[in-house]
Amino acid sequence: MAEKHYDIVIIGGGPGGLCAGMYAARARRKVVCIERFLTGGQISLTGDVEDYPGFEHIDGPELGKKFTDHAKKFGLEIAQDEVTEVYVDGDDRVVKCASGDIYRAKAVIVSTGGTPVKLDVVGEVEYSGKGVSYCAICDGAFFKDKVIAVVGGGDAAIEEGTFLTKYGSKVHIIHRRDKLRAQKIIQQRAFDNKKVEFIWNSVVDSIQGNGSKISSLTLRNTESDEKSNLDVGAIFIYIGFHPNSKFFRDKVQLDANGYIITNDKMETSIKGIYACGDVRSQLVRQVTNAVGDGTTAAVAAEKYIETLEDKVAQRV
Ligand code: NAP
Repeated sequence: MAEKHYDIVIIGGGPGGLCAGMYAARARRKVVCIERFLTGGQISLTGDVEDYPGFEHIDGPELGKKFTDHAKKFGLEIAQDEVTEVYVDGDDRVVKCASGDIYRAKAVIVSTGGTPVKLDVVGEVEYSGKGVSYCAICDGAFFKDKVIAVVGGGDAAIEEGTFLTKYGSKVHIIHRRDKLRAQKIIQQRAFDNKKVEFIWNSVVDSIQGNGSKISSLTLRNTESDEKSNLDVGAIFIYIGFHPNSKFFRDKVQLDANGYIITNDKMETSIKGIYACGDVRSQLVRQVTNAVGDGTTAAVAAEKYIETLEDKVAQRV
């Protein structure tokens, strides 16, 4: 257990956090990014990124690594740990970690993204890792020539469903309505793919298997209430995600869904604490706006620290 001192602590090493780290390091601030798993964020779990300007196609993990290497080159430190609490102590913003380490900084930038929403049906927990997955790029290759199901109608479900046709003999995309919310270009690619079949107005009621791997799903039609059976070798669940903002509850202002509310400088309701990327309450959750948020947060944090330093200089 150690107490460490930084100008800026960034929590979460996705695109927003890494971009904030790059700008803070370029401003010659002592800055660390605390990441519980691997830097790169959700794109590291994505096959292909095709909507980041300058890259018509780039492998998600490769783009994540480029963000990481770029920020490190300017001096961003990376620490692997899990943040358990963030609080204010005078002019210090204090970040406590699971390892027992405590980070004191003048400013904190929260870029913790979210975790996948669970379907919350019978069999989901039991067969997690045995055919139930939330990451196509991690697990898709295990289901070569199998029938695969994907749940959801957003960008993630449709994009990853199309990606999974690389492996599966067929991919059934199960959506609770008859209209997708995914971007039109992503939808069109799925509609054009002969291996993709849509099951509309349907939800998964339960997941069955033989104890060691899944074998079928029970589906329910949301209009007729009729039940049916679908034999599958895997199910990938993409029904959105919950923001990782728990360590703040009751301290920083959150919206009704738990996303952190900021102003246009990415300032939260606590001075010196900023939020960027998917954890922030906003309309769009893309890599492009996460890096924009990260830039703004780093510049705003830098200006805030300068005002603190001016205050100290006036006192002496
Ligand atoms: P999302 O946009 O929130 O979509 C979630 C989908 O799951 C919706 O279609 C929703 O249905 C469905 N759903 C929610 N709860 C369900 C339940 N209990 N049972 C069955 N279906 C359920 O989530 P996402 O696709 O994970 O995307 C999250 C964010 O990341 C979005 O802002 C997205 O634009 C972004 N993203 C972008 C890209 C890209 O641009 N390439 C890729 C991935 C993600 P309804 O439509 O009926 O609500």
